Amino acid sequence: MSAPTAQAAVSWAERAIHRVQAGLDGRAVVDGARVASLTGQTFHKHSPIDNRLLGAVTRGQAADIDAAVRSARQAFDDGRWCGKPPAFRKKVLQRFAEKVTAARDELALLETLDMGKPIQYSLGVDVPSTARTLSWYAEAIDKVYDEIAPTAPNALALITREAIGVVGVIVPWNYPMIMAAWKLGPALATGNSIVLKPSEKSPYTALRLAELALEAGLPPGVFNVVPGYGPEAGEALALHADVDALGFTGSTRTGRRMLEYAGRSNLKRVYNELGGKSAVLVFDDCSEWERAARTVAGGIFFNQGESCNAPSRVLVHESLADRFLEVLVAEAPKHQPADPLDPRTVMGALVDHTQLQTVLGYIDAGRAEGARCVAGGQQARADTGGFYVQPTVFDGVDNRMRIAQEEIFGPVLSVIRFSTEAEAIAMANATAYGLQASVWSDNVHRAHRVARALRAGTVHVNQYDDDDITVPFGGYKQSGNGRDKSLHALDKYTELKTTWLRINPA
Ligand code: NAD
Repeated sequence: MSAPTAQAAVSWAERAIHRVQAGLDGRAVVDGARVASLTGQTFHKHSPIDNRLLGAVTRGQAADIDAAVRSARQAFDDGRWCGKPPAFRKKVLQRFAEKVTAARDELALLETLDMGKPIQYSLGVDVPSTARTLSWYAEAIDKVYDEIAPTAPNALALITREAIGVVGVIVPWNYPMIMAAWKLGPALATGNSIVLKPSEKSPYTALRLAELALEAGLPPGVFNVVPGYGPEAGEALALHADVDALGFTGSTRTGRRMLEYAGRSNLKRVYNELGGKSAVLVFDDCSEWERAARTVAGGIFFNQGESCNAPSRVLVHESLADRFLEVLVAEAPKHQPADPLDPRTVMGALVDHTQLQTVLGYIDAGRAEGARCVAGGQQARADTGGFYVQPTVFDGVDNRMRIAQEEIFGPVLSVIRFSTEAEAIAMANATAYGLQASVWSDNVHRAHRVARALRAGTVHVNQYDDDDITVPFGGYKQSGNGRDKSLHALDKYTELKTTWLRINPA
């Protein structure tokens, strides 16, 4: 981004006021139209920036979900989308991506107002990443071939992929648009119809995405969005007997429920993308340990620490730990929370009061269990009415402590010391999660050896930042199953069919 100016800061704050005064439409999008809930119920959505009221949002219930699923089913059955050639779907999805890019400012403002992340990241990360995801799957879909099996000469066995049907999508609030796009891209490209339930903490961009998709030419009923609470709209969608697959991103606790819902209903396929407690391992042969420390600080404090793959544990060789900690303590204040609408801000507000209490509760737990808070550790900007926490670093953490084992989902880093490679690997793997990890070493043998030993879906070596839609993303163990992103995600939204043909001899 170009250097921000104070003028720009005023301008985003003013735009926010005008946007809210103009009224935010919180109604569902079902069958191609904005609709109120069938019960007429709404809930009030406030901004975590300053707790200002953003508007009334549809509180979807089972009947609303049922209407959306029926619309999606009808759209699927009559082939208005899945029956079209891949090249057609590609064109529509490309236009959808272009519309997302064209609506960059509006979507970024909604995202920041809704869930509190800094406007510079909504503009520079969330919107472009959403558009790229949609266009990448659009581009991919007319280049994926099916298979013919190597059978005997008197037979032909075709192995084809078909859209699975109606896909329920339930997503969290930390990257509302990106998480939705990771499901929408592959599910729409392969021809499915969708009912999306965004988090009740961040409903607005999902609703706008549905409108932009319609403007791009996506037929009505193919992409429906019903906002509402998890135990109401979310549960109704996950239990619905006419939903064929569920793409879920959220906590491990709720992911467990998704499997139960499937078991209690129609055994729909469930793809869970869940929490993490990712470890960074810094060895004593790492010459770039200062860059490692800065990278860890940048990673854990990005998005207020509300990232599933945040590097929330750093395991440092004991000979390096004191110097490493000095750099971390110097870096932390550079990530001090500030007004998310100011383009210079690098850390914004936590999503709501509940999340603030959760994070502060973990900071208390860390102190109570004997860890040493060496940076931050307090609520910030309380006078704004919003929900902010200082960038926080704990030293002297034992890997068995709660702050080392449980996902905090806030700007809190645990520093753990180790003496041997085996000990570091054992501690890195000793959590319920397995989403991401990072190894820092100048020794190529060690880097590969440790990367192989780590039970995580993604392992970085001498970095933590690289990411792209071309690579799969997801976790081992209780971080989930299935993978978002890359061509592998197409598997989740398609059924594999074998068709046998007999070829008679002449
Ligand atoms: P959450 O599990 O509380 O909620 C996620 C979604 O599920 C929301 O839409 C919510 O309304 C819905 N939900 C909640 N309870 C439900 C219920 N009983 N029945 C049906 N639906 C229900 O998670 P969250 O707090 O929104 O998000 C944070 C979590 O998401 C973290 O654990 C984070 O690690 C995880 N996450 C994972 C990834 C990944 O790709 N692995 C990415 C982003 C976030």
